Amino acid sequence: AKEEGKNDYRFFTSDMNARAMERLRIETDLRKAIEEEQFQLYFQPTKHLGQEFISSAEALLRWQHPTYGMVYPDTFMSVAEESGLINQIGKWVFKSGMAQAAKWHSQGKRVQISINVSGRQLRQPHLIDEIMTQLLETNCDPTLIEFELTESAILEFPDKAIEILRKLRAQGFSIALDDFGTGYSSLSYLKQLPVDKVKIDRSFISGLPDDKDSRILVEAIIALSHKMGLSVIAEGVENEEQLDFLETQKCAKIQGYFYSRPLSVDAFEDFVRRHSHP
Ligand code: C2E
Ligand code: CA
Ligand code: CA
Ligand code: CA
Repeated sequence: AKEEGKNDYRFFTSDMNARAMERLRIETDLRKAIEEEQFQLYFQPTKHLGQEFISSAEALLRWQHPTYGMVYPDTFMSVAEESGLINQIGKWVFKSGMAQAAKWHSQGKRVQISINVSGRQLRQPHLIDEIMTQLLETNCDPTLIEFELTESAILEFPDKAIEILRKLRAQGFSIALDDFGTGYSSLSYLKQLPVDKVKIDRSFISGLPDDKDSRILVEAIIALSHKMGLSVIAEGVENEEQLDFLETQKCAKIQGYFYSRPLSVDAFEDFVRRHSHP
């Protein structure tokens, strides 16, 4: 985003040694970030077509680095995954996402919050216990929380992943399939996954409405999801033409810069206020 390319971490060189050093530095800084809670959640409102008020948002992780300023997930997520630190970071994300949902709820605003969960987190032995602990500690209603997982994260260990998703749904959480269309499985495999929602990947939306393949694929995903009783959201909607196409296709929800960028809590609350009563 806006301030990128100044003092952020950069892989200046293709030199393998320098790259490894840089990753090590990120890992060291991440450990400190966990201890000092240098993280923040941003919230990107999602738009339900035909509905003016905001009732859902995706929580997106931001790192307020003491010297580099805001660092985005693309810079540190692969290090967090490989080092396993994503488990501790993820725990913080569960806690703050749930705390925020509970806080807004207590103020009379129901905002369903989508929380990203990576493949590595799914392999964590006590993931469900941890989620349930955070739920109780934050006093959050589980129907306010949706977990987003990619198809590829699920397919690493499908049996185990499916079992986890079933348990989460039984507790009242909902599940969305993130980046849909980029994975390897066929559309028909969807039937076997315990999910409530399909999130069409940005790469297909960016081709709309001109690219024929994107059009065909998006139409097919929407039609099939509806037939299977799943809700659909399109991510990465950046302009009116894309929105018009999706509306025509009866895609009920959209998310993207055209509607709103991810916002800090304060900015999100302002946005909600501006989108409530006339
Ligand atoms: P994602 O889950 O696919 O999230 C969507 C990404 O697209 C976000 O990037 C969001 O800011 C960006 N985006 C939203 N609308 C638009 C648009 O209209 N155009 C474009 N070009 N981009 C848009 P962000 O926040 O940098 O996050 C990147 C990825 O990092 C996420 O992709 C997700 O895989 C991961 N991530 C973010 N937060 C968390 C987290 O709390 N836990 C885990 N495990 N992963 C996270
Ligand atoms: Ca996501
Ligand atoms: Ca996505
Ligand atoms: Ca993605």
